Amino acid sequence: MKPDLFEAPDYYNLDDLLSDEHKLVRDAARQWVKRDISPIIEEYAQKAEFPKQIIGGLAEIGAFGPYIPEEYGGAGLDQISYGLIMQEIERGDSGVRSTASVQSSLVMYPIFAYGTEEQRKKYLPKLATGEWMGCFGLTEPNHGSNPGGMETKFRDAGDHYILNGAKLWISNSPFADVAVVWAKNEEGRIHGLIVERGMEGFSTPETHNKWSLRASATGELIFDNVKVPKENLLPNKSGLGAPLGCLDSARYGIAWGAIGAAMDCYDTALRYAKERIQFGKPIAAYQLQQKKLAEMITEITKAQLLAFRLGQLKNEGKATTAQISMAKRNNVDMALKIAREARQVLGGMGITGEYSIMRHMMNLESVITYEGTHDIHLLITGADITGIPAFK
Ligand SMILES: Cc1cc2nc3c(=O)[nH]c(=O)nc-3n(C[C@H](O)[C@H](O)[C@H](O)COP(=O)(O)OP(=O)(O)OC[C@H]3O[C@@H](n4cnc5c(N)ncnc54)[C@H](O)[C@@H]3O)c2cc1C
Repeated sequence: MKPDLFEAPDYYNLDDLLSDEHKLVRDAARQWVKRDISPIIEEYAQKAEFPKQIIGGLAEIGAFGPYIPEEYGGAGLDQISYGLIMQEIERGDSGVRSTASVQSSLVMYPIFAYGTEEQRKKYLPKLATGEWMGCFGLTEPNHGSNPGGMETKFRDAGDHYILNGAKLWISNSPFADVAVVWAKNEEGRIHGLIVERGMEGFSTPETHNKWSLRASATGELIFDNVKVPKENLLPNKSGLGAPLGCLDSARYGIAWGAIGAAMDCYDTALRYAKERIQFGKPIAAYQLQQKKLAEMITEITKAQLLAFRLGQLKNEGKATTAQISMAKRNNVDMALKIAREARQVLGGMGITGEYSIMRHMMNLESVITYEGTHDIHLLITGADITGIPAFK
Protein backbone atom coordinates (compact mmCIF):
# COMPACT_ATOMS: atom_id res chain seq x y z
CA MET A 1 0.00 0.00 0.00
CA LYS A 2 1.14 3.56 -0.71
CA PRO A 3 2.57 5.65 2.17
CA ASP A 4 -0.12 7.51 4.14
CA LEU A 5 0.18 11.15 2.99
CA PHE A 6 -3.26 12.13 4.33
CA GLU A 7 -4.00 15.81 4.84
CA ALA A 8 -7.40 16.54 6.36
CA PRO A 9 -9.61 18.92 4.39
CA ASP A 10 -11.10 21.78 6.45
CA TYR A 11 -12.66 24.08 3.89
CA TYR A 12 -14.77 26.13 6.32
CA ASN A 13 -12.13 26.41 9.07
CA LEU A 14 -13.99 24.09 11.40
CA ASP A 15 -10.79 23.90 13.45
CA ASP A 16 -11.55 27.43 14.69
CA LEU A 17 -14.64 26.05 16.43
CA LEU A 18 -12.76 23.28 18.21
CA SER A 19 -11.27 23.62 21.69
CA ASP A 20 -7.62 22.86 22.40
CA GLU A 21 -8.73 19.59 23.96
CA HIS A 22 -10.70 18.61 20.85
CA LYS A 23 -7.65 19.26 18.66
CA LEU A 24 -5.32 17.39 21.01
CA VAL A 25 -7.56 14.34 21.08
CA ARG A 26 -8.15 14.46 17.31
CA ASP A 27 -4.47 14.85 16.47
CA ALA A 28 -3.44 12.00 18.76
CA ALA A 29 -5.95 9.72 17.04
CA ARG A 30 -4.80 10.94 13.61
CA GLN A 31 -1.15 10.22 14.37
CA TRP A 32 -2.00 6.80 15.76
CA VAL A 33 -3.95 5.88 12.62
CA LYS A 34 -1.03 6.98 10.43
CA ARG A 35 1.45 5.00 12.49
CA ASP A 36 -0.45 1.88 13.53
CA ILE A 37 -3.37 1.42 11.12
CA SER A 38 -2.40 2.61 7.65
CA PRO A 39 0.68 0.36 7.30
CA ILE A 40 -1.18 -2.85 8.19
CA ILE A 41 -4.84 -2.41 7.36
CA GLU A 42 -4.79 -3.48 3.73
CA GLU A 43 -3.11 -6.77 4.61
CA TYR A 44 -5.64 -7.53 7.35
CA ALA A 45 -8.57 -6.57 5.13
CA GLN A 46 -7.22 -8.82 2.36
CA LYS A 47 -6.91 -11.77 4.72
CA ALA A 48 -10.24 -10.91 6.41
CA GLU A 49 -8.83 -10.76 9.92
CA PHE A 50 -9.24 -8.30 12.76
CA PRO A 51 -5.80 -6.98 13.81
CA LYS A 52 -5.96 -7.76 17.52
CA GLN A 53 -2.63 -6.06 18.19
CA ILE A 54 -4.32 -2.65 17.79
CA ILE A 55 -6.59 -3.08 20.83
CA GLY A 56 -4.09 -1.47 23.23
CA GLY A 57 -3.62 1.50 20.89
CA LEU A 58 -7.36 2.03 20.55
CA ALA A 59 -7.60 2.15 24.34
CA GLU A 60 -4.70 4.60 24.56
CA ILE A 61 -6.27 7.13 22.19
CA GLY A 62 -9.48 7.01 24.26
CA ALA A 63 -11.53 5.10 21.69
CA PHE A 64 -13.04 2.77 24.32
CA GLY A 65 -15.55 4.82 26.29
CA PRO A 66 -14.47 8.35 25.28
CA TYR A 67 -17.39 9.93 27.14
CA ILE A 68 -17.58 7.43 30.02
CA PRO A 69 -16.47 9.15 33.27
CA GLU A 70 -12.85 8.66 34.31
CA GLU A 71 -13.84 7.00 37.59
CA TYR A 72 -14.96 3.98 35.51
CA GLY A 73 -11.85 4.03 33.32
CA GLY A 74 -13.35 6.09 30.48
CA ALA A 75 -11.70 9.16 28.97
CA GLY A 76 -14.32 11.59 30.36
CA LEU A 77 -14.41 13.58 27.12
CA ASP A 78 -17.30 15.46 25.52
CA GLN A 79 -19.35 14.31 22.55
CA ILE A 80 -17.38 16.31 19.99
CA SER A 81 -14.13 14.65 21.07
CA TYR A 82 -15.91 11.29 20.80
CA GLY A 83 -17.00 12.20 17.27
CA LEU A 84 -13.53 13.36 16.26
CA ILE A 85 -11.97 10.10 17.49
CA MET A 86 -14.48 8.11 15.41
CA GLN A 87 -13.76 10.31 12.39
CA GLU A 88 -10.03 9.67 12.62
CA ILE A 89 -10.36 5.93 13.17
CA GLU A 90 -12.73 5.54 10.22
CA ARG A 91 -10.33 7.59 8.11
CA GLY A 92 -8.16 4.51 8.63
CA ASP A 93 -10.86 1.87 8.29
CA SER A 94 -14.60 1.52 9.02
CA GLY A 95 -14.03 -1.95 10.45
CA VAL A 96 -11.64 -0.65 13.09
CA ARG A 97 -14.10 2.14 13.90
CA SER A 98 -16.87 -0.47 14.18
CA THR A 99 -14.89 -2.31 16.86
CA ALA A 100 -14.45 0.91 18.83
CA SER A 101 -18.09 1.98 18.36
CA VAL A 102 -19.41 -1.34 19.59
CA GLN A 103 -17.13 -1.35 22.62
CA SER A 104 -18.01 2.25 23.58
CA SER A 105 -21.61 2.87 22.61
CA LEU A 106 -23.11 -0.58 22.55
CA VAL A 107 -21.34 -2.28 25.45
CA MET A 108 -19.89 0.32 27.83
CA TYR A 109 -22.78 2.78 27.39
CA PRO A 110 -25.59 0.34 28.36
CA ILE A 111 -23.58 -0.95 31.33
CA PHE A 112 -22.95 2.65 32.41
CA ALA A 113 -26.47 3.96 31.76
CA TYR A 114 -28.63 0.93 32.61
CA GLY A 115 -26.38 -1.10 34.92
CA THR A 116 -25.86 -1.30 38.68
CA GLU A 117 -22.86 0.25 40.41
CA GLU A 118 -21.41 -3.28 40.85
CA GLN A 119 -21.76 -3.96 37.12
CA ARG A 120 -20.11 -0.63 36.26
CA LYS A 121 -17.17 -1.36 38.54
CA LYS A 122 -16.78 -4.93 37.38
CA TYR A 123 -16.91 -4.36 33.61
CA LEU A 124 -16.18 -0.76 32.62
CA PRO A 125 -12.51 -0.41 33.65
CA LYS A 126 -11.56 -3.66 31.89
CA LEU A 127 -13.52 -2.66 28.77
CA ALA A 128 -11.85 0.76 28.76
CA THR A 129 -8.36 -0.77 28.61
CA GLY A 130 -9.38 -3.42 26.10
CA GLU A 131 -8.51 -6.20 28.54
CA TRP A 132 -12.06 -7.33 27.88
CA MET A 133 -13.74 -6.83 24.52
CA GLY A 134 -17.49 -6.68 24.12
CA CYS A 135 -20.23 -7.17 21.55
CA PHE A 136 -23.89 -6.18 21.25
CA GLY A 137 -26.56 -8.68 20.31
CA LEU A 138 -29.76 -7.17 18.98
CA THR A 139 -30.22 -8.35 15.35
CA GLU A 140 -31.61 -11.85 14.78
CA PRO A 141 -31.93 -14.04 11.68
CA ASN A 142 -35.62 -13.12 11.32
CA HIS A 143 -35.54 -9.62 12.83
CA GLY A 144 -33.20 -6.93 11.49
CA SER A 145 -34.95 -3.61 10.87
CA ASN A 146 -37.70 -4.75 13.23
CA PRO A 147 -35.81 -5.74 16.40
CA GLY A 148 -38.98 -5.49 18.49
CA GLY A 149 -40.04 -8.81 16.97
CA MET A 150 -37.04 -10.61 18.53
CA GLU A 151 -37.46 -14.26 19.50
CA THR A 152 -34.50 -14.61 21.91
CA LYS A 153 -35.99 -15.09 25.35
CA PHE A 154 -35.12 -15.79 28.97
CA ARG A 155 -37.03 -17.24 31.88
CA ASP A 156 -36.69 -17.06 35.61
CA ALA A 157 -35.24 -20.30 36.99
CA GLY A 158 -34.99 -19.37 40.67
CA ASP A 159 -31.50 -18.07 41.40
CA HIS A 160 -30.62 -17.56 37.69
CA TYR A 161 -32.16 -17.02 34.23
CA ILE A 162 -32.19 -19.47 31.33
CA LEU A 163 -31.50 -17.81 27.96
CA ASN A 164 -32.38 -19.27 24.55
CA GLY A 165 -32.17 -17.90 21.01
CA ALA A 166 -29.73 -16.64 18.39
CA LYS A 167 -28.30 -13.35 17.17
CA LEU A 168 -26.81 -12.73 13.73
CA TRP A 169 -24.42 -10.13 12.27
CA ILE A 170 -22.76 -9.35 15.56
CA SER A 171 -19.57 -7.25 15.30
CA ASN A 172 -16.71 -8.47 17.54
CA SER A 173 -18.65 -11.63 18.48
CA PRO A 174 -15.91 -14.14 17.54
CA PHE A 175 -13.46 -12.73 20.11
CA ALA A 176 -15.68 -10.86 22.58
CA ASP A 177 -15.31 -11.67 26.27
CA VAL A 178 -18.73 -10.22 27.13
CA ALA A 179 -21.93 -9.73 25.16
CA VAL A 180 -24.72 -7.30 25.95
CA VAL A 181 -27.70 -9.32 24.74
CA TRP A 182 -31.27 -8.13 24.27
CA ALA A 183 -33.95 -10.72 25.02
CA LYS A 184 -37.60 -10.92 26.08
CA ASN A 185 -38.73 -12.13 29.48
CA GLU A 186 -41.78 -14.32 30.05
CA GLU A 187 -44.03 -11.25 29.79
CA GLY A 188 -42.51 -10.29 26.42
CA ARG A 189 -40.59 -7.28 27.84
CA ILE A 190 -37.12 -6.60 26.36
CA HIS A 191 -34.19 -6.54 28.81
CA GLY A 192 -30.41 -6.38 28.50
CA LEU A 193 -28.32 -9.24 29.90
CA ILE A 194 -24.55 -9.47 30.20
CA VAL A 195 -23.45 -12.85 28.88
CA GLU A 196 -19.84 -13.93 29.41
CA ARG A 197 -17.69 -16.16 27.24
CA GLY A 198 -17.37 -19.55 28.88
CA MET A 199 -20.98 -19.76 30.08
CA GLU A 200 -22.25 -23.22 29.16
CA GLY A 201 -24.40 -23.29 26.02
CA PHE A 202 -23.04 -19.97 24.69
CA SER A 203 -21.16 -20.03 21.36
CA THR A 204 -20.05 -17.40 18.84
CA PRO A 205 -19.44 -18.84 15.34
CA GLU A 206 -17.77 -16.46 12.90
CA THR A 207 -19.48 -15.26 9.70
CA HIS A 208 -17.16 -15.70 6.71
CA ASN A 209 -17.03 -14.54 3.08
CA LYS A 210 -17.83 -10.86 3.68
CA TRP A 211 -16.78 -8.43 0.93
CA SER A 212 -17.15 -5.55 3.39
CA LEU A 213 -15.68 -4.70 6.82
CA ARG A 214 -13.18 -7.48 6.23
CA ALA A 215 -10.86 -6.25 8.99
CA SER A 216 -13.73 -6.46 11.50
CA ALA A 217 -14.80 -9.83 12.90
CA THR A 218 -18.53 -10.56 12.59
CA GLY A 219 -20.42 -13.57 13.87
CA GLU A 220 -23.40 -15.11 15.56
CA LEU A 221 -24.37 -15.49 19.19
CA ILE A 222 -26.05 -18.81 20.00
CA PHE A 223 -27.75 -19.38 23.35
CA ASP A 224 -28.69 -22.95 24.15
CA ASN A 225 -30.15 -22.97 27.66
CA VAL A 226 -27.47 -20.59 28.91
CA LYS A 227 -27.54 -20.12 32.69
CA VAL A 228 -27.18 -16.37 33.30
CA PRO A 229 -26.73 -15.15 36.91
CA LYS A 230 -29.48 -12.77 38.00
CA GLU A 231 -26.93 -10.07 38.78
CA ASN A 232 -26.12 -9.93 35.03
CA LEU A 233 -29.46 -8.29 34.13
CA LEU A 234 -29.22 -4.55 33.40
CA PRO A 235 -31.95 -3.31 35.75
CA ASN A 236 -32.30 0.39 35.05
CA LYS A 237 -33.99 0.40 31.66
CA SER A 238 -36.13 -2.08 29.73
CA GLY A 239 -38.28 -2.13 26.59
CA LEU A 240 -37.14 -1.47 23.02
CA GLY A 241 -36.07 2.05 24.05
CA ALA A 242 -33.12 0.54 25.95
CA PRO A 243 -31.25 -0.91 22.93
CA LEU A 244 -32.40 2.02 20.80
CA GLY A 245 -30.78 4.42 23.29
CA CYS A 246 -27.45 2.65 22.69
CA LEU A 247 -27.99 2.89 18.94
CA ASP A 248 -28.45 6.67 19.23
CA SER A 249 -24.96 6.92 20.66
CA ALA A 250 -23.42 4.59 18.08
CA ARG A 251 -25.18 6.25 15.15
CA TYR A 252 -23.93 9.63 16.31
CA GLY A 253 -20.37 8.22 16.19
CA ILE A 254 -21.01 6.83 12.71
CA ALA A 255 -22.16 10.26 11.48
CA TRP A 256 -18.66 11.50 12.33
CA GLY A 257 -16.87 8.33 11.29
CA ALA A 258 -18.23 8.39 7.75
CA ILE A 259 -16.70 11.85 7.30
CA GLY A 260 -13.30 10.29 7.98
CA ALA A 261 -13.74 7.70 5.22
CA ALA A 262 -14.94 10.43 2.83
CA MET A 263 -12.00 12.70 3.69
CA ASP A 264 -9.55 9.91 2.98
CA CYS A 265 -11.14 9.18 -0.43
CA TYR A 266 -11.25 12.86 -1.36
CA ASP A 267 -7.67 13.53 -0.26
CA THR A 268 -6.39 10.50 -2.17
CA ALA A 269 -8.31 11.46 -5.32
CA LEU A 270 -7.17 15.09 -5.18
CA ARG A 271 -3.50 14.11 -4.84
CA TYR A 272 -3.77 11.52 -7.60
CA ALA A 273 -5.56 13.94 -9.95
CA LYS A 274 -2.77 16.51 -9.57
CA GLU A 275 -0.06 13.92 -10.28
CA ARG A 276 -1.62 11.75 -12.99
CA ILE A 277 -0.84 13.06 -16.49
CA GLN A 278 -3.10 12.20 -19.44
CA PHE A 279 -3.14 13.97 -22.82
CA GLY A 280 -0.14 16.00 -21.61
CA LYS A 281 -1.87 17.54 -18.55
CA PRO A 282 -2.67 16.50 -14.99
CA ILE A 283 -6.20 15.05 -14.98
CA ALA A 284 -7.01 17.67 -12.28
CA ALA A 285 -6.90 20.23 -15.10
CA TYR A 286 -9.99 18.74 -16.76
CA GLN A 287 -13.40 20.13 -15.87
CA LEU A 288 -15.00 16.72 -15.40
CA GLN A 289 -12.46 15.78 -12.73
CA GLN A 290 -12.74 19.21 -11.08
CA LYS A 291 -16.51 18.79 -10.91
CA LYS A 292 -16.07 15.51 -9.03
CA LEU A 293 -13.52 16.97 -6.61
CA ALA A 294 -15.44 20.22 -6.06
CA GLU A 295 -18.64 18.34 -5.30
CA MET A 296 -16.77 16.05 -2.91
CA ILE A 297 -15.35 18.88 -0.81
CA THR A 298 -18.74 20.63 -0.80
CA GLU A 299 -20.47 17.52 0.54
CA ILE A 300 -17.72 16.84 3.10
CA THR A 301 -17.98 20.41 4.36
CA LYS A 302 -21.77 20.16 4.75
CA ALA A 303 -21.39 16.84 6.60
CA GLN A 304 -18.75 18.31 8.93
CA LEU A 305 -21.06 21.17 9.87
CA LEU A 306 -23.99 18.79 10.42
CA ALA A 307 -21.90 16.57 12.70
CA PHE A 308 -20.45 19.51 14.62
CA ARG A 309 -23.88 21.02 15.33
CA LEU A 310 -25.22 17.62 16.32
CA GLY A 311 -22.27 17.30 18.70
CA GLN A 312 -23.18 20.61 20.33
CA LEU A 313 -26.77 19.41 20.75
CA LYS A 314 -25.52 16.12 22.21
CA ASN A 315 -23.30 17.96 24.66
CA GLU A 316 -26.36 19.93 25.77
CA GLY A 317 -28.43 16.72 26.03
CA LYS A 318 -30.79 18.02 23.35
CA ALA A 319 -30.05 15.84 20.30
CA THR A 320 -33.12 13.84 19.26
CA THR A 321 -33.16 10.33 17.81
CA ALA A 322 -34.53 11.78 14.56
CA GLN A 323 -31.72 14.36 14.34
CA ILE A 324 -29.16 11.58 14.84
CA SER A 325 -30.88 9.47 12.14
CA MET A 326 -30.67 12.34 9.69
CA ALA A 327 -26.94 12.82 10.28
CA LYS A 328 -26.12 9.09 10.13
CA ARG A 329 -28.09 8.68 6.90
CA ASN A 330 -26.78 11.79 5.20
CA ASN A 331 -23.14 11.36 6.12
CA VAL A 332 -22.84 7.68 5.26
CA ASP A 333 -24.60 8.21 1.92
CA MET A 334 -22.30 11.16 1.25
CA ALA A 335 -19.21 9.05 2.04
CA LEU A 336 -20.32 6.14 -0.14
CA LYS A 337 -21.00 8.44 -3.11
CA ILE A 338 -17.61 10.11 -2.64
CA ALA A 339 -15.88 6.72 -2.47
CA ARG A 340 -17.49 5.73 -5.79
CA GLU A 341 -16.52 9.00 -7.49
CA ALA A 342 -13.01 8.98 -6.02
CA ARG A 343 -12.53 5.43 -7.27
CA GLN A 344 -13.24 6.64 -10.79
CA VAL A 345 -10.74 9.51 -10.49
CA LEU A 346 -8.04 6.89 -9.93
CA GLY A 347 -9.04 4.91 -13.02
CA GLY A 348 -7.76 1.32 -12.91
CA MET A 349 -5.51 2.04 -9.93
CA GLY A 350 -8.68 2.77 -7.96
CA ILE A 351 -9.63 -0.89 -7.81
CA THR A 352 -6.34 -2.02 -6.26
CA GLY A 353 -5.24 -2.34 -2.66
CA GLU A 354 -2.46 0.16 -3.38
CA TYR A 355 -4.99 2.83 -2.40
CA SER A 356 -7.61 2.84 0.35
CA ILE A 357 -10.60 3.92 -1.73
CA MET A 358 -12.03 0.57 -2.82
CA ARG A 359 -11.73 -0.74 0.76
CA HIS A 360 -13.61 2.30 2.07
CA MET A 361 -16.28 1.84 -0.60
CA MET A 362 -16.83 -1.80 0.28
CA ASN A 363 -16.83 -1.01 4.01
CA LEU A 364 -19.41 1.73 3.59
CA GLU A 365 -21.83 -0.76 2.04
CA SER A 366 -22.12 -2.25 5.54
CA VAL A 367 -22.13 1.10 7.30
CA ILE A 368 -25.09 2.25 5.18
CA THR A 369 -26.99 -0.89 6.27
CA TYR A 370 -26.09 -1.44 9.92
CA GLU A 371 -27.34 0.60 12.86
CA GLY A 372 -30.54 1.21 10.89
CA THR A 373 -30.61 1.04 7.11
CA HIS A 374 -30.60 4.04 4.79
CA ASP A 375 -34.32 3.44 4.14
CA ILE A 376 -35.28 3.13 7.79
CA HIS A 377 -33.51 6.37 8.73
CA LEU A 378 -35.41 8.18 5.99
CA LEU A 379 -38.64 6.75 7.41
CA ILE A 380 -37.62 7.96 10.89
CA THR A 381 -37.29 11.49 9.49
CA GLY A 382 -40.61 11.04 7.67
CA ALA A 383 -42.33 9.93 10.86
CA ASP A 384 -40.78 12.80 12.81
CA ILE A 385 -41.94 15.53 10.45
CA THR A 386 -45.40 14.12 9.66
CA GLY A 387 -46.20 12.41 12.94
CA ILE A 388 -47.13 9.28 10.94
CA PRO A 389 -44.75 6.27 11.14
CA ALA A 390 -44.68 4.60 7.71
CA PHE A 391 -42.64 1.54 8.70
CA LYS A 392 -44.89 -0.14 11.23
C1 LIG B 1 -21.10 -6.06 8.98
C2 LIG B 1 -22.31 -5.91 9.85
C3 LIG B 1 -22.14 -5.75 11.23
C4 LIG B 1 -23.25 -5.66 12.06
N1 LIG B 1 -23.08 -5.55 13.43
C5 LIG B 1 -24.16 -5.66 14.26
C6 LIG B 1 -23.99 -5.73 15.68
O1 LIG B 1 -22.86 -5.62 16.19
N2 LIG B 1 -25.07 -5.95 16.46
C7 LIG B 1 -26.34 -6.07 15.94
O2 LIG B 1 -27.28 -6.27 16.71
N3 LIG B 1 -26.53 -5.99 14.59
C8 LIG B 1 -25.48 -5.80 13.75
N4 LIG B 1 -25.66 -5.74 12.38
C9 LIG B 1 -27.01 -5.94 11.83
C10 LIG B 1 -27.60 -4.70 11.17
O3 LIG B 1 -27.94 -3.74 12.12
C11 LIG B 1 -28.76 -5.19 10.29
O4 LIG B 1 -28.20 -5.83 9.18
C12 LIG B 1 -29.67 -4.06 9.87
O5 LIG B 1 -30.40 -3.55 10.96
C13 LIG B 1 -30.66 -4.47 8.77
O6 LIG B 1 -31.28 -5.66 9.10
P1 LIG B 1 -31.34 -6.85 8.01
O7 LIG B 1 -29.98 -7.08 7.51
O8 LIG B 1 -32.06 -7.99 8.66
O9 LIG B 1 -32.18 -6.27 6.83
P2 LIG B 1 -33.80 -6.20 6.72
O10 LIG B 1 -34.38 -5.62 7.95
O11 LIG B 1 -34.29 -7.55 6.26
O12 LIG B 1 -33.98 -5.17 5.54
C14 LIG B 1 -33.82 -5.52 4.16
C15 LIG B 1 -34.24 -4.31 3.32
O13 LIG B 1 -35.62 -4.01 3.57
C16 LIG B 1 -35.76 -2.63 3.94
N5 LIG B 1 -36.88 -2.51 4.89
C17 LIG B 1 -37.07 -3.19 6.06
N6 LIG B 1 -38.20 -2.78 6.65
C18 LIG B 1 -38.74 -1.83 5.85
C19 LIG B 1 -39.91 -1.01 5.93
N7 LIG B 1 -40.75 -1.06 6.97
N8 LIG B 1 -40.15 -0.13 4.94
C20 LIG B 1 -39.29 -0.02 3.89
N9 LIG B 1 -38.18 -0.77 3.75
C21 LIG B 1 -37.91 -1.66 4.73
C22 LIG B 1 -34.43 -2.25 4.57
O14 LIG B 1 -34.21 -0.86 4.49
C23 LIG B 1 -33.45 -3.04 3.69
O15 LIG B 1 -33.16 -2.31 2.52
C24 LIG B 1 -24.56 -5.74 11.51
C25 LIG B 1 -24.71 -5.86 10.12
C26 LIG B 1 -23.61 -5.95 9.30
C27 LIG B 1 -23.83 -6.11 7.82
